[in-house]
Amino acid sequence: MILIKILLVLVLVFIVHSIIPTYYNKIFNKNAIRKTDTDNNIMLTFDDGPDKRYINQLLAVLEKNDVKAIFFMVAKNAQNNSEIVKKIENKGHKIALHSWEHKNAMLYSYFYTKKDFENSKQIMSSLGVKDFIYRPPWGHTNIFSNHFVKKHNMKLMYWDVMAEDWSASSTPESISEKLLKRTTKNSIICLHDAGENSGGAKDAPLNTIEGLDIAIPKLKEKGYNFVLPQ
Ligand SMILES: [Zn+2]
Repeated sequence: MILIKILLVLVLVFIVHSIIPTYYNKIFNKNAIRKTDTDNNIMLTFDDGPDKRYINQLLAVLEKNDVKAIFFMVAKNAQNNSEIVKKIENKGHKIALHSWEHKNAMLYSYFYTKKDFENSKQIMSSLGVKDFIYRPPWGHTNIFSNHFVKKHNMKLMYWDVMAEDWSASSTPESISEKLLKRTTKNSIICLHDAGENSGGAKDAPLNTIEGLDIAIPKLKEKGYNFVLPQ
């Protein structure tokens, strides 16, 4: 009986600490960006990098198609690849934050969450980032996340389109088809520019890059413009 009570308390704590904040932010929080506010202006975003194995190819495809994107970086990856961060920025793309070390906020307490934000801010500031757009890994937050988002002057950004580009079963064609089918006039597209280090399949970004090269011209033909946040 006591075990059942302990279990119930743990479930309740998890719901209050993790489930409610995550769904509140994903669906209801008015301060979080989920879509663009101008019709036919869409955004292209990449999570989990920078990864030196794929970045040159990705930047080349973006340049060829004349598209600027937002790179949500894991601060530790950015710290280890500072010259890539500069390169991405010099090409006119926007650098944003995707946590310190890509941990799931739903499973962590106040103290880790505090450290996650403080270390991220310190690293990204040292790399020249001034205004912070933040996307939590998997879109997961906990009951303390919003306190630190506010404290560090960050803006939450989610997405409305994914193409399962991390999956081993995806191909450039399947990614491109999903992007064309799912993108609507205010979409924020979330793709991934790092592979197995953050849970994706090995070399998945190669499919992402090839899929984008097919999809971007077709999305432009549909009348969509790729924009960055103001
Ligand atoms: Zn991620």
